[in-house]
Amino acid sequence: MPHDAADRIDTRLIHHGYRPPEGFEAPQPPVHKASTVLFPNVAAMRARRWQDKSGYTYGLHGTPTTFVLEERLATLEGGRHCLLVPSGLAAITTTALALLGQGDEMLLPDNVYGPSKAFAQGLLARYGVRFGYYDPLDVRDLAGKLTDATRLVWLEAPGSVTMEFPDLPGLVRACRARGVATALDNTWGAGLAFAPFDLLGDGSLGVDVSVHALTKYPSGGGDVLMGSIVTRDPALHERLQRGHMHLGLGVGANDAEAVLRALPSLALRYRAQDVAARALARWLAQQPAVAQVLHPALPGAPGHAHWRDLCGAAHGGDGAAAGLFSVVIDARHAGARVDAFCDALRLFRLGYSWGGPTSLVMPYDLPAMGPRATPHLAAGTVVRFAAGLEGLDDLRADLAQAMHSVFGS
Ligand SMILES: *Cc1c(COP(=O)(O)O)cnc(C)c1O
Repeated sequence: MPHDAADRIDTRLIHHGYRPPEGFEAPQPPVHKASTVLFPNVAAMRARRWQDKSGYTYGLHGTPTTFVLEERLATLEGGRHCLLVPSGLAAITTTALALLGQGDEMLLPDNVYGPSKAFAQGLLARYGVRFGYYDPLDVRDLAGKLTDATRLVWLEAPGSVTMEFPDLPGLVRACRARGVATALDNTWGAGLAFAPFDLLGDGSLGVDVSVHALTKYPSGGGDVLMGSIVTRDPALHERLQRGHMHLGLGVGANDAEAVLRALPSLALRYRAQDVAARALARWLAQQPAVAQVLHPALPGAPGHAHWRDLCGAAHGGDGAAAGLFSVVIDARHAGARVDAFCDALRLFRLGYSWGGPTSLVMPYDLPAMGPRATPHLAAGTVVRFAAGLEGLDDLRADLAQAMHSVFGS
């Protein structure tokens, strides 16, 4: 083949007259992959702004695929603006890095998601941001710890692992009274159990920022890592967006499409895993080896009344909850036997995360997770369960066989 003909083919393979198929308006958005976005001319390039969605500038600042996902997630959470990040943890760290500076103070609930503590103690402390913990079950404790330097208060409902459900409206009100911004880790609520930007249902009270580990329910497959940062306030969104841009964060198009594909079944999966988890939690509460069940929807659980106030009206009065709960295995069973119980389970697999099809179990060593007063918890070892989508009878039988073989009852 002559040299110039090969060059022409190379060129034509790039500059061919591709047009999307006419009339192909599929409901599912396509996967758009791009770093470079081409401009028709210099004037059009200069006119485009990376900050808004009126046009495209560069893949990192958004594609049609990520814009659609952002809009749907903002809708899900009742917000107006959304930023996508590569993990739930990145949603937490990006929010803090974008909103805080040297000398500022951040407060965390003492039952907060563990890696949030590590971030505060590590990178943030090194950058001169101070932090402290408050008792999420005591609004007055938080109110008393807010200072003129406090710029951000994290909220989690319920807390990770020990599942205490706080008085979320009370905590937000205390922060509002001092003009302190609130950020909720809304992974458990998923935008379904309650409305983070409208906690009282009358539009009068809400959090300022809602972050969400899309890794859990929105992905639903146990196969995607992603996070979102949703806000209502345009000025706050702009600060977060600038931080997000400075940090160079983006998500892959195939991952965004996987979440888009799973979103339509989100509410169905959330409900199914809620029903299964509550049935399993009630069954476990009857077992002699179990000293306490920590499920916010079950009477007697720490903060149950707060859960009922916020989430109790959903689903015809059954209320809404994620398919996640913990139990305390009685202290008379030593830690090694609790490990043996987790190992004896066959359908509940040992692994982190939740919200996927596979039921999961994880034992936790609370003392190793940091000093904290827990008078509301029974003595023993905490084990967390996440209901998957297996048959409920099979899951219950699995718990029964492991209980019987290890604890003898
Ligand atoms: C899983 C989880 C995160 C972090 O999400 P990743 O995508 O795993 O980084 C944050 N907060 C809560 C409450 C979580 O359960």
